[in-house]
Amino acid sequence: MLFDFMNLNELTIKEAQAGLRNKEFTAVELTQACLDRIKERNNELNAFITVCEESALKEAKIADEMLAQGKSLALTGIPFSVKDAICTASVRSTGAAKILDNYTPPYDATVIKKIREQGGVLVGKNNCDAFGHGASNENSMYGPVKNPYNLDKVAGGSSGGSAAAVADNMCIFAIAEDTGGSIRQPASFCGVVGLRPSYGRNSRFGIMPMASSFDTVGPMTKTVEDMAIVMQVIAGNDHLDATTVPEPVPDYNDELNKDLTGLRVGVPQEYFEAEGMDKEVRQIIEKQIKNLEKQGAEIFYVSLPMTKYAIAVYYILVPCEVSSNFGRLDGIRYGVRSEAKDLFGVYSKSRAQGFPEEVKRRILIGTYALSAGYYDAYYKKAQQVRTLIRLDFDRVFSDVDILITPTSPSAAFGLGEKSSDPIQLYLADIFVSPAASAGIPAISVPAGETKSGLPVGLQIMGSRMSEGLIMRVANNIKK
Ligand code: GLN
Repeated sequence: MLFDFMNLNELTIKEAQAGLRNKEFTAVELTQACLDRIKERNNELNAFITVCEESALKEAKIADEMLAQGKSLALTGIPFSVKDAICTASVRSTGAAKILDNYTPPYDATVIKKIREQGGVLVGKNNCDAFGHGASNENSMYGPVKNPYNLDKVAGGSSGGSAAAVADNMCIFAIAEDTGGSIRQPASFCGVVGLRPSYGRNSRFGIMPMASSFDTVGPMTKTVEDMAIVMQVIAGNDHLDATTVPEPVPDYNDELNKDLTGLRVGVPQEYFEAEGMDKEVRQIIEKQIKNLEKQGAEIFYVSLPMTKYAIAVYYILVPCEVSSNFGRLDGIRYGVRSEAKDLFGVYSKSRAQGFPEEVKRRILIGTYALSAGYYDAYYKKAQQVRTLIRLDFDRVFSDVDILITPTSPSAAFGLGEKSSDPIQLYLADIFVSPAASAGIPAISVPAGETKSGLPVGLQIMGSRMSEGLIMRVANNIKK
């Protein structure tokens, strides 16, 4: 027997597929192993808000029937979990905010629908910062997620639950959302692979919108090979999301197997001069850059001068879009309604009780920045600088193929360490927000560990639609 039955949940997608196809174990056994791990660990980690034990086992049984007939699709029988800010048909989807505590969507987000059509088994919904607002998973109304490597540390955010679930083998892969770093930063903190696709590569239909011109959906996996498998399933044009691009999806697995000879790697100086950059993180990333050089890549030191404005631009534009998008959550149309004397009272009480502080803060900042007197000074100015950030990348990508940076200036920080100061948390996004403003793809891949045993992620950014290339480079990063 190839696999130890106790540890099926530790398999990668690729290994699990092989085991299922060779009948080494069943999809029910594989799913049960994940559910057992969730039972064992979720009390401590708090990575799941909802666990779908019954439906997962049913789905696994159907997968086994298919496998018995020799039918195996891309993800048949593979257990996965989903960030709770993504809609799943007939499974409660709270966005980690009490205003949607009782909300069960009638439909699947397109990416989830595609995964289910390929046989994926949904084991549960992951905790996150409410509606994706945060960088530590401490803004969830269902409590913080703890880092599986050290329970005193944050899992990162906002998709901390998904990162912890993958890292701790509670599922085989996860689907999450990245508006300004929410896939990459928790992936870095928990030692897993996380990809933010180009804006328009994967459908956003069925994602609870945070900031629509920044939001993307992507996978979190144990390996880059697994990332390619999931991206192959979910990428592509969707008539339900007019911002998806009609470009064909390349064969990502083919891309992984090409070598790095002649690859032009850019190292943006501004990222290495950032304040608060941890020494150990810098050393790990510099060592990886040298390794790429040994594999035939050419290294260029480049400049992205607009980097210093990225946080300011992001934290003006995102709240503006939040203030508009969150109008729909009023206690009438969706979710939990607080009783009050009149209609206005229902709105204000439902929102006061249903949103955490950070969501309220962003609605207020956005409403302010969009108001008649301040629109030109804040919103319009930030949009103009957003264009300059994008142009910075366009210019650099005419000289180099990819950019390498740390994903985060530090490894996972302590629970409670930054939560009382929102600005400190905003600054944690310094390396992940520029790609979000520019709409380009970026992947975080484990690159090493600090002396205290915390994972450190390396970020690879590429030009629009270069997911195949950045996955190929990521596949050559060895811890
Ligand atoms: N830290 C970012 C924020 O708080 C990440 C958000 C996201 O990507 N969903 O806005």
